[in-house]
Amino acid sequence: FNEIPTGYPEPGRTVVYDGHQTIDPDTVPLNGGFLVKILVLSIDPYMRGRMRDPSIASYEPAFPLGKPIDNFGVGLVVRSENVEVDVGQHIYGFYPFREYSIFKDLSELRRGRVLGTKEGLPWSAYVGVCGMPGQTAFYAWCEFSHVRKGDVVFVSAGAGPVGSTVIQLAKQAGCKVIASAGSEEKIAFLKSIGTDVAFNYKTEKTLDVLRKEGPINIYWDNVGGESLEAALDAAAQHARFIMCGMISSYNSENDYPVKNLSQIFAKSLTLYGFTVAILRDKYIDRFYNEVPRMVAEGKIKFKEDASHGLESAGEAILEVQKGRNKGKKLILVAEE
Ligand code: NDP
Repeated sequence: FNEIPTGYPEPGRTVVYDGHQTIDPDTVPLNGGFLVKILVLSIDPYMRGRMRDPSIASYEPAFPLGKPIDNFGVGLVVRSENVEVDVGQHIYGFYPFREYSIFKDLSELRRGRVLGTKEGLPWSAYVGVCGMPGQTAFYAWCEFSHVRKGDVVFVSAGAGPVGSTVIQLAKQAGCKVIASAGSEEKIAFLKSIGTDVAFNYKTEKTLDVLRKEGPINIYWDNVGGESLEAALDAAAQHARFIMCGMISSYNSENDYPVKNLSQIFAKSLTLYGFTVAILRDKYIDRFYNEVPRMVAEGKIKFKEDASHGLESAGEAILEVQKGRNKGKKLILVAEE
């Protein structure tokens, strides 16, 4: 991490690639730990929030300047002196953006988890629909939706890993689903996963669509800003708002000034704010028992957008912020 950005991060400046690691994986001393070869790393919207002055507190620590950025990934254990970790295991956890890393124990990977069977899926799926974004969708949908058959649900940024998982959970629950995204290619994907009303928010007014297709009982907010305003205006009495993210403001200095908050009391709305970590203990076992199998059986579909090599990280981070990603953004670092 080279420089705190103002506005959008700049590839080659905000995050810089400083060449291949020079360690020899066969001989590097482990001192009782284990050596992981990183296979795949996730690129997520919230990483922009970590590119800040460390004196500003937030729910995730700031990236320290001059150190590798880190995020969720899947790695393969290639050597181990730790009796609890076996060579050949695949571990999901928090990795520095490097080719290899040495850890003392699993706790050093923050939320590290040995992945058992892979259900015939690529390991990359375990940073997306079967990883943190899928967990976000599953946990908060279970906890906050209070869904009833026939509910009308609106999902913004519907084509990403969070939104597309929510859409499919809502369809399974018997809802009518309206979803927005920013390109025709994404709209086609939204339709392919069963979205009833898919629209491009750049060419159609969100409020017009919601007025026609609503009122809405549940709003899953990935975006904030004008989408949130439109959802407040088009909400039914007692609607639930699941406040997952506000990417429309991540690259601005201030949050968007929402103009119609009075709808919250006027319509007796309930807003649920959350970060995925607060629901983890309650739902994590259920998630791994249910979701990878549903994905493998095709009951939850997913789309990935892979870049190759650590050198693509800066561009990949920007792509997600700009909406140029075409599915779950990830970096394929190495083959097994
Ligand atoms: P996506 O892969 O969907 O990528 C983000 C998408 O947001 C972009 O592709 C783009 O799609 C859209 N976008 C970007 N800028 C804007 C804008 N100004 N207005 C409207 N849409 C915009 O991301 P994820 O599925 O991984 O994450 C979705 C949301 O969930 C994010 O806000 C993220 O921060 C949040 N999140 C929250 C978590 C929590 O714990 N609360 C955990 C994980 C994710 P498009 O082409 O449609 O514009």
